[in-house]
Amino acid sequence: MSDMEIKDWINRRIKKDEIDRYLENGRHFIPHDDIEQRIRLAKPPTEEELKAVLAKSLAVQDLTLDDVAALIAVTDPGHLRLMKETALKVKLKVYDNRIVTFAPLYLGSYCVNNCRYCGFKSENKNAVRKVLNEKEIRREIEVLAGKIGHKRLIVVYGEHPNNDVDYIIQSIKTIYSVRVPTKHGNGNIRRVNVNAPPFCIEDLKKLHGVGIGTYQVFQETYHQPTYERMHPQNTIKGNYLWRVYAMHRALDAGIDDVGIGALFGLYDWRFEVMALICHAQALERMMGIGPHTISFPRLEPALNAPMDTYAKYRVSDEDFLKLITIIRLAVPYTGMILTARESPDIRRKAVDAGITQMDASSKISLGGYEEDKNFQQQETQQFILGDTRTLEEVIQELARQGFISSFCTAGYRCGRTGKCIMDLLREGAEGKFCKLNAVLTFREWLDDFASEETRQASAQLIQREIDEVRDKMPQIYPKFKEYYDRICRGERDLFL
Ligand code: SAM
Ligand code: SF4
Repeated sequence: MSDMEIKDWINRRIKKDEIDRYLENGRHFIPHDDIEQRIRLAKPPTEEELKAVLAKSLAVQDLTLDDVAALIAVTDPGHLRLMKETALKVKLKVYDNRIVTFAPLYLGSYCVNNCRYCGFKSENKNAVRKVLNEKEIRREIEVLAGKIGHKRLIVVYGEHPNNDVDYIIQSIKTIYSVRVPTKHGNGNIRRVNVNAPPFCIEDLKKLHGVGIGTYQVFQETYHQPTYERMHPQNTIKGNYLWRVYAMHRALDAGIDDVGIGALFGLYDWRFEVMALICHAQALERMMGIGPHTISFPRLEPALNAPMDTYAKYRVSDEDFLKLITIIRLAVPYTGMILTARESPDIRRKAVDAGITQMDASSKISLGGYEEDKNFQQQETQQFILGDTRTLEEVIQELARQGFISSFCTAGYRCGRTGKCIMDLLREGAEGKFCKLNAVLTFREWLDDFASEETRQASAQLIQREIDEVRDKMPQIYPKFKEYYDRICRGERDLFL
């Protein structure tokens, strides 16, 4: 493509009418002054006040902005401990003791944008630019689904005509089509979530048509002046409003499960947490569905993206775990994703603060799974990973912590998406299906991919889960046990 053609492509991306239709009295939904003022004026709650807020979370009710501001103001160690303990209780109530596992798959690193913090930014001339072709994608899936045993992916793309929506659709079709022989039958990817640029409604409808799981777009920073500094104005990403309404458009296009997030470290974490809550509330109020997931990536070093200009807002480990706890308490029904950007130590602690999804065995360079690079080469990846453990290592540790790893992809294949899944989660009923499917898919993975050591480390846990289903869900137990036994005999992909 010539430079002129790329320019023309860029100019056609943003549809002004698809911003205007969502503005309320000409305004977007992040009330900057109001948020700043609430944070400034909030006082640490008394024990009684804190308990009243936590009781709401435990009842799976959303918190108000004032509640969240109060939690942000907490500094007393005893109160912080109580918040964390409650966050775990909320997680167990809504999501039970399971952690959903997935892997990222980078497919296109071309990008017309110039985000100051990202290794893929257009002005980084040292970045290796690549789009995986069909054969290369197949080879990545052979490793992911055939050797590691993943069932869920998040596919990641820059914004560029070389990896535009048509390429994205084609690449997802390829992923779904691959079957890799394993010990018992075939390994395959059953759910593809997408982290891609914001699209217009027409493109989002096309994307919906290919059968994606969650569509994720992170706002990076909700603080508009900072956003505009981080994303030069002459780029597509420079348009704050186009990005902030990406999920409204996705829901209008029929994509039910949407994932929001902020890149922590660009601006004050307190503001970003309050703004994430405003975003969740706006989606519920205007579109009738809250976010399926919330992500909270923390800024990592990237090639030719010096961080000294915004180091001021670096989030300490302590604050990071606090903000995860607050999000868990504030939006009890949402899935919370913590990626391998973080170290094993932080990920361990975050599991206890209420996260629900983690990746493992992750490679974030293009073609990285096939090449099985153990080192982290900055030229080919977006940033540096903090946790390079294998899926098996992570699963074994989770099992020892009493958490079951789930490869369940039944939800979207049974129509349990969007509002339906939100309602089930709020009622505490989704946990029922998810527990059953978590056990079934965990059994599959243990039999197909785990070492004897991991199988042994998980044996007690899985037996405990089966006993719990028998005692607490007697009506569904016979069917569940039948499926479980069939899986033990080698059948695959049975779900409830
Ligand atoms: N290009 C698309 C976009 O910007 O929305 C999606 C892909 S981008 C590769 C995925 C996410 O990576 C971004 O939304 C951003 O939050 C995160 N990211 C970018 N640079 C990062 C860095 N240096 N450290 C940690 N996360 C980063
Ligand atoms: Fe491109 Fe996304 Fe990186 Fe920005 S964050 S430079 S849009 S890949």
